[in-house]
Amino acid sequence: MIPFLDLRAIYQQDAEAYDAAYRRVMDSGRWILGPELAAFEAEFAAFCGTPHAVGVGNGLDALTLSLQVAGIGAGDEVLVPAHTFIATWLAVQQSGATPVPVEPAGGSFNVDAEGLAAAITPRTRAVMPVHLYGEPADPAAIAALCAQRGLLLIEDAAQAHGALHDGRPAGSFGALAGFSFYPGKNLGAFGDAGAVVTRDPALAQALRERRNYGSLARYQHASVGVNSRLDELQAAWLRIRLQKLPAHNQRRREIAAFYQQRLADLPGIETPQVAAGNEPVWHLYVLRCARRDALQAALAAEGIETLIHYPKPVYRFPPFAAMAPATRSLSDQICDEVLSLPIGPHLSDGQVEQVVEAVRRVAEALR
Ligand SMILES: *Cc1c(COP(=O)(O)O)cnc(C)c1O
Repeated sequence: MIPFLDLRAIYQQDAEAYDAAYRRVMDSGRWILGPELAAFEAEFAAFCGTPHAVGVGNGLDALTLSLQVAGIGAGDEVLVPAHTFIATWLAVQQSGATPVPVEPAGGSFNVDAEGLAAAITPRTRAVMPVHLYGEPADPAAIAALCAQRGLLLIEDAAQAHGALHDGRPAGSFGALAGFSFYPGKNLGAFGDAGAVVTRDPALAQALRERRNYGSLARYQHASVGVNSRLDELQAAWLRIRLQKLPAHNQRRREIAAFYQQRLADLPGIETPQVAAGNEPVWHLYVLRCARRDALQAALAAEGIETLIHYPKPVYRFPPFAAMAPATRSLSDQICDEVLSLPIGPHLSDGQVEQVVEAVRRVAEALR
């Protein structure tokens, strides 16, 4: 069996370092808002090319708190991709604003500046593009659009740690960018964690206050806050994962390049297109196939585990059904056709070769 993901293998590859970090934190007696978090925040900010990073409890909170400190709320509209993980929309919902869906650009899984521009109304205050599957979503053009129209750009970079557009890191284009360190992400904790990066020191300060009960000094509450902190153990482990991230992302790029080369010619299968200027980090490697369900079943029979990201556009789920278009959308079609192959540092060359051989056999059989 070739597993889609193997988080135990990620731990075991560097178990000594993670265990030593565990001992260090346990012996320190500090669990919350201590030196490990401060060090991780500095290291992650540098990695993203932004002056500030603020650790929070998870990726959803990173996005929600970003909207809140930017003053987005009731009565405001925020443009979001129809085709994304539901957290993007839930963050907007939790801020009190209204998510407004935008369809992917033709030939892409991502929204682009043109599609977003067409969805702007007098109530639009912010744009929250997602660098889906680890590929930047037209960030330079979207940043220019936002500057021109007076909109706030908040990147959902939860799948794009280290992805580049014109050599610039995902997360460095917006006023704010939210990252998730959910275990399965390219940079994953061993539990829940997230962060916001920003160039703006005032927004960074507001985030530090908001994540900790509106407080920067003990029992001094300057504003309304929540409890959403990135704890010391996760921060210590994330510092190690961050050191490994360039090599892990490089391995993903190698595997993706191999898939791109070896699967490009197959009947009935479309390999992902990478937009100009982009260096994705391949959080997911996603094929399109009109006979997706048959492809997935046949690959399972060959011992290849695959997943579907995502089975439906967000507006087809009950909480947002009122926003669903009456007719079949581009996102509906994409969701019916996508299939994610195993990718990640847990895979050997031999396993990647096995995936390719299986996909080739199955595609020929299905033609
Ligand atoms: C994972 C993810 C999130 C949410 O992150 P959590 O840490 O699970 O809260 C948000 N947006 C996208 C696109 C994601 O993939």
